[in-house]
Amino acid sequence: MTRTLAIANQKGGVAKTTTTASIGAALADEDVSVLVVDLDPQGCLTFSLGHDPDALTKSVHDVLIGAEDIADVLLDTDDNVTLLPATIDLAGAEALLLMRPGREYALKRALAEVAQDYDVILIDCPPSLGVLTLNGLTAADEVVVPLQCETLAHRGVGQLLRTVTEVQQITNPELKLLGTVATLFDARTTHSRDVLSDVSDRYDLPVLSPPIPRTVRFAEASASGASVMRGRKNKGATAYRELADNLRAHWAGDELATFELSE
Ligand code: ADP
Ligand code: MG
Repeated sequence: MTRTLAIANQKGGVAKTTTTASIGAALADEDVSVLVVDLDPQGCLTFSLGHDPDALTKSVHDVLIGAEDIADVLLDTDDNVTLLPATIDLAGAEALLLMRPGREYALKRALAEVAQDYDVILIDCPPSLGVLTLNGLTAADEVVVPLQCETLAHRGVGQLLRTVTEVQQITNPELKLLGTVATLFDARTTHSRDVLSDVSDRYDLPVLSPPIPRTVRFAEASASGASVMRGRKNKGATAYRELADNLRAHWAGDELATFELSE
């Protein structure tokens, strides 16, 4: 059975793309077959997996509007995950899809054609709550919300959770909200922990274990187009591997490991 996980938060810079790429690479290292979907017109996931969005002639955009078969658009990557890439064309998909009936189901329908080839599908949602994110949430079994552990991290979370609830009511009753992935976590101060416990209490959101520490290597990696999981060991990569292991255990039937804030 294929597990489809959306990574969503309409706020930019919370590490959605880093989380998608890192969990994907960590799972692939464990011989899990992984498809990652770039739903952001900026194409950051596509770029970080070694493909230049500006040089691609077809992308998820063509799949969503029905102009290409998904199987003809998929790309291999050095991280051993398969990529459904994005290009800037996707910025026009919002407008094109809006005129179509069943527009929230375009991605779900496309993924159904290739899902049997993958154990896990990860969907990197764009920084908006528009029709692309609705497609991501409609196609997913589960969703996680990356949150940067900084002041005001909670802003927009209520709106995102309302969108999740609406998707559950209308297009995807099976969608499960797993909780938040704490990113850019600083264990040396109490600030990250305070921010997390505030958001977690306010919205009754579990925090997945472990939190992902701030790591200089990550900023370097995304700028160079190389995955953070390659090369030298670093504490960010180690944390993502543990998170990927915890997700795998959850998919195998275990209770999902959560981070205890009160420790
Ligand atoms: P989003 O997809 O939510 O916009 P990104 O994954 O692109 O966020 O991350 C935003 C920026 O933060 C990127 O420059 C990325 O390299 C950096 N970043 C992400 N995770 C970490 C981390 N754990 N430590 C340091 N920098 C990080
Ligand atoms: Mg992103």
